[in-house]
Amino acid sequence: MEHYDLIVIGSGPAGRRAAIQAAKFGRSVLVVERGRRVGGVSVHTGTIPSKTLRETVLNLTGWRERGFYGRSYRVKQDISADDLMARLHKTLDHEVEVLEHQFARNKVDTIRGEARFVDTHVIEVLGEAGDVQAFKAARYVITVGTRPFRPDYVPFDGEFVVDSDEILELKELPRSIAVVGAGVIGVEYASIFSALDVHVTLVEPRNSMLDFLDKELVADFTHQLRDRGIALRFGAKVEKIEKHGPADCEITLEGGRCVRSNVILFAAGRMGATPSLNLDACGLEVDHRGRLRVDPVTFQTSVPHIYAAGDVIGFPSLASTSMEQGRIAACQALGEKAYDPPEYFPYGIYAVPEISTVGMTEEEIKERGIPYECGVARFRETSRGHIMGLETGMLKMIFSLKTRRLLGCHIVGEGRPNWCISARRS
Ligand SMILES: Cc1cc2nc3c(=O)[nH]c(=O)nc-3n(C[C@H](O)[C@H](O)[C@H](O)COP(=O)(O)OP(=O)(O)OC[C@H]3O[C@@H](n4cnc5c(N)ncnc54)[C@H](O)[C@@H]3O)c2cc1C
Repeated sequence: MEHYDLIVIGSGPAGRRAAIQAAKFGRSVLVVERGRRVGGVSVHTGTIPSKTLRETVLNLTGWRERGFYGRSYRVKQDISADDLMARLHKTLDHEVEVLEHQFARNKVDTIRGEARFVDTHVIEVLGEAGDVQAFKAARYVITVGTRPFRPDYVPFDGEFVVDSDEILELKELPRSIAVVGAGVIGVEYASIFSALDVHVTLVEPRNSMLDFLDKELVADFTHQLRDRGIALRFGAKVEKIEKHGPADCEITLEGGRCVRSNVILFAAGRMGATPSLNLDACGLEVDHRGRLRVDPVTFQTSVPHIYAAGDVIGFPSLASTSMEQGRIAACQALGEKAYDPPEYFPYGIYAVPEISTVGMTEEEIKERGIPYECGVARFRETSRGHIMGLETGMLKMIFSLKTRRLLGCHIVGEGRPNWCISARRS
């Protein structure tokens, strides 16, 4: 049986960083990936595809120029699903190629197959052809990520009622879409489809969305979505989802209200991809969403030689944070010097328009009783905003009145300045 210093299960952003960091320390590393190609959700169904789609949509629709030329302006008149997919495949191929090269350059071994624990130090990898190989490692980093939550009451068919993986396979652009779930993924897709002039209804059982963001920012963003004609159905649970026929779907909300659309995207949550790992064999338990609990600084699980990072440990579930967590987890697992995770990770939400945020929200600052002041710049009042024809968008910075330190920086809008500010608690 082959023995490694570290085995990383999953090759998404967290696994990739964990593996490369360990290899840079001169340790032997194996990455196990069950997908057809390395890269994880980030490369194949998540970050990169949705951002490529977003960029394609903005380019083909001419959305960024509409401030000057009016809402009916379009670069390409009839945009098809094929137009959107062409760029997607090229980008993904390139991403995979870069990643494979990074693994090869750093001498990281990879194997394709599904990993499952046999005991605390041994895993089996089940290949596609049914072949099984066993490997042993002194340390593990679990970075298996998540999968879309697919409750039984939703009649998924992969065509008209789809999850966030399947939405990328749409054969035709719908005239209308209902998006269930106003989390980051739901909001991103809702705003992207709206930029294509598809009629969008966003359904969310809570009364608000993106609650981890500064409220003023969310209010501005919400106003922009409404202004573009996105229907927001907030504060009502979904009671029923039905498909009456091709391109004829219906959501019944609590209270009897109905939403009809060609396509439904169900994007209400994700589940840790842990069921296949046979975690009983190594003594680990997961929560009701299949996620692992770790120490927030070291990323160590309750089993001392097993670490976990990325989406499988929960919030904030972003590619950039997953990468940093993976890197720190590998350092900690191998007993190498690791910096503590930053108190605040910057978050980017690639809706149309984009949202970026780092540090404390105004609500958090108030709660802590810190005397503060805000500075707000509206894009339409800046020269760059005039040049770009921007009518919306804002930058908000919050300072401590005592120390004059920056406590939080929050941006919503297109063409925001391409920099990031890191804030610390005063
Ligand atoms: C639609 C969408 C849009 C997103 N947009 C953004 C964004 O704009 N910005 C951002 O920062 N983040 C975004 N994210 C989130 C981002 O994709 C995730 O945070 C990131 O991919 C998590 O990385 P990870 O390494 O934890 O796991 P993943 O990327 O999920 O990778 C896990 C890998 O583990 C493999 N695996 C699972 N089980 C096993 C097993 N038993 N054996 C072997 N391999 C296994 C899987 O096949 C997968 O390849 C988005 C996600 C989605 C779904």
